[in-house]
Amino acid sequence: MSTVTADSFKTGFLPTWCPGCGDFGIWMSLKEALAKLGIGPDDGLLVYGIGCHGNMYDWMNIYGCAGLHGRALPLAQGAKLANHTLPVIVVSGDGDCLGEGGNHFLHAAKRNPDLTVIIHDNQVYGLTTGQASPTAKPGFKTKSTPEGVVDEPINPLTLAIISGATFVARGFAGDIPGLTQLTMQAISHKGFSVLDVLQPCVTFDKVHTYGWYRQRLYTLEKEGYVPNHKIQAIEKAMEWGDRIPIGILYKEEKPTSEDREPALAGGPLVKAFIGGEQREELLKEFI
Ligand code: SF4
Repeated sequence: MSTVTADSFKTGFLPTWCPGCGDFGIWMSLKEALAKLGIGPDDGLLVYGIGCHGNMYDWMNIYGCAGLHGRALPLAQGAKLANHTLPVIVVSGDGDCLGEGGNHFLHAAKRNPDLTVIIHDNQVYGLTTGQASPTAKPGFKTKSTPEGVVDEPINPLTLAIISGATFVARGFAGDIPGLTQLTMQAISHKGFSVLDVLQPCVTFDKVHTYGWYRQRLYTLEKEGYVPNHKIQAIEKAMEWGDRIPIGILYKEEKPTSEDREPALAGGPLVKAFIGGEQREELLKEFI
C-alpha cells in the first residue's frame, strides 16, 4: 500500500491564483491534512462551489464535483447519503457559501450531516473582480461599494453555532501548520464541521493583508479557552478589531443526519443490492 503524502494530490496543472493569494495556504493545508489522516485520492470526495476557491478542482487529484453557484452543500449531502462512509469535504467561498448558498448553509447546520465545509473567507467576490461579499465589513471599499460597505456583515461563526453546527473553527491562510491542524480536526469530527478561513485576497483587498491579520490574531487554545459552551463561543466569534481569535470556538458530539436516517441502517446505499426486477421498475420511472 503506498503512503499518502501531500504530493499524492498533484495534478498536471499549476494553480492560476494570483501570486500570494490566501487560497494557496488553504490548498497546502488541505493536502497536508488529508495526507496526515491517510485519506488518499481514491478515498474521499471534494465538492466545490463557484469562485476563486473552486478553481482548486483542477489542481487536486482526488474525486471532485463542482456545484452551481452556492449549491455545493446540497451536492455534498446527496453524496453523503449515497455513501455515508465516504469522507466528504466542501470547499466554498464566503460569497458562495453565505450569499448564494446561505439557505443551504443554515439547513445543513441544522441537520448535522457528517461533512466538513472549508470557507475561503476573503470578504470579496474575487473571481468576478472584487465586489463586496456577505462577510465584507462596514466601510470596506470595493468595486460594488465605492463609498464603503454600509451593511452589517454576516458572521459565519455565529451563524454556524446558532444554526446547529457541531464543530465551528476559524483559521488563517497565512498559518499553514495551524490551519493543517484545524483542517484535520474538522475532517475528523463526526458531524457538520465549519472551518472559516481568513484568506487575504491580495488583488482586491488592500486592507485585510497578511500583516493586518498577523497584528491582530491570537490563538484561543493558548489562552486556555475550552470550546464547549455556546454562549461563550458566540462571544468569541463576535470579537473583531484589535484582537481576532483563531482556533476551535465550539464543539459538541451529537447524532448526525446519517445516524438518524433509517434508510442507512443497513449500510451505505451505494452498496445496496438492487435486483433485476427492482431495477426494471426503477428504470421505468425515467422513461
Ligand atoms: Fe486570490 Fe483574490 Fe486573486 Fe482570487 S482575485 S485568486 S481570491 S488574490
